[in-house]
Amino acid sequence: MSERRYDLAVAGAGLNGALLALAAARNGLDTVVVDRQPLDAMTLPAFDGRTTAVAYTSQRLFEALGLWAGLEPDAEPIRDIRISDAGHDGRPSPLFLHFDHRENAPTPDEARPMGWIVENRFLRRALYAALAREPRASVLAPAELAGTTRDATRALLHLGDGRTLEARLVASAEGRSGALREEAGIGARSWSYRQTAIVLVAAHELPHRGVAQEKFLPGGPFAILPMRNGEDGTHRSSIVWSERTPLAERLLTLDAARFNSEFARRFGDYLGKVQPVGPRFAHPLGLVHAERYVDERLVLVGDAAHGIHPIAGQGYNLGVRDVAALVEVLVEAHRLGLDLGAADTLERYAAWRRTDNLAMVAATDLLNRLFSNDIAPVRLARDVGIAAVHRIPPLRRFFMRHAMGLVGDLPKLTRGVAL
Ligand SMILES: Cc1cc2nc3c(=O)[nH]c(=O)nc-3n(C[C@H](O)[C@H](O)[C@H](O)COP(=O)(O)OP(=O)(O)OC[C@H]3O[C@@H](n4cnc5c(N)ncnc54)[C@H](O)[C@@H]3O)c2cc1C
Repeated sequence: MSERRYDLAVAGAGLNGALLALAAARNGLDTVVVDRQPLDAMTLPAFDGRTTAVAYTSQRLFEALGLWAGLEPDAEPIRDIRISDAGHDGRPSPLFLHFDHRENAPTPDEARPMGWIVENRFLRRALYAALAREPRASVLAPAELAGTTRDATRALLHLGDGRTLEARLVASAEGRSGALREEAGIGARSWSYRQTAIVLVAAHELPHRGVAQEKFLPGGPFAILPMRNGEDGTHRSSIVWSERTPLAERLLTLDAARFNSEFARRFGDYLGKVQPVGPRFAHPLGLVHAERYVDERLVLVGDAAHGIHPIAGQGYNLGVRDVAALVEVLVEAHRLGLDLGAADTLERYAAWRRTDNLAMVAATDLLNRLFSNDIAPVRLARDVGIAAVHRIPPLRRFFMRHAMGLVGDLPKLTRGVAL
């Protein structure tokens, strides 16, 4: 068994686990993070072709942890968001919704982007480099976490190679599969959307001007997210194309010419000629929400607690708020000399995060059900809704504040305040 007793052991070094380990260690907690995959492999372009829409509040946390300066050169600001509905013929409805980032600011000079589009590989690269520099953080990867033994005094983590680690608290950031969630007997509501997201990068003739587009097609939302230009100056956007799974599977087997023409038909011609570049990735879509976030000396964060549809680009932003709340609660307990793994400490975290997570789980589920169909009366009702929000400034500002993450009782780090 390892001689060392950690304050916190994190299972999983994905975007949430790595961020949690970094934020905890940076704030004085001895932390170990374990992942079955080597960290270097997780920064390769072929590992994860997605981008993340980093909300304004998540960016403030990255800034508070000193990560943003390294990310900014690769982050494209989202200045406007345009939402439109399209029927089975692919033609957009004349009713649309436009969010302009300047609208939420007291003066034009104070206008902040609603978020930033960053490639996941760059997020991982920044997180892993910062972890490697952090004296209170240890990384064990590749290493499989096989299970835990937890009691009133400590948690033991049993690794697949026979090693055992000891910690006051274990955080599961294992993603949707959540093996520790199952080990603890925590139930989860989960279902498949029977949709698959096709993820790729598209090069186009005209600049996107920082506008993110979401078109609601009958098979699912088609998101066009502004990226930084390529090294050769190419204008680029990241695409999340949700489609019914059987059709997505067929599309993914098409040769380049046929795939590109199906893609271009949905993308439209508003940015001139468009062409997919690089590999295509497929992500089956579903929902999972844990019935509770804590057990004895165990907490769930990120997708292990709640995995949602990417329709609003908020899954990781919820995880960032989990991390910020958990670290704030743990650091307070630590400074008061209290037990980090005590039930009341963990309950504070769970109560803090429940409402925000539940609201986003429900909103994304409802939006996807409402928009991923071509039923005429439903289409009419949602078009009227889109047009109404477009015409009512306070409603528009309400949705913009949600997209920016400016909701509820925000943890300090997401307000840019050090702990
Ligand atoms: C198509 C798509 C687009 C998205 N776009 C956005 C967006 O724009 N904005 C946004 O906010 N969110 C977005 N999301 C959501 C976001 O990507 C996820 O919420 C986030 O990546 C989840 O990270 P995680 O660390 O919780 O889980 P994961 O990424 O699943 O990481 C879990 C880690 O745990 C490790 N692991 C698991 N079990 C073990 C074990 N037993 N032992 C050792 N290691 C283990 C795995 O190897 C893995 O590295 C999107 C999601 C999809 C599918």
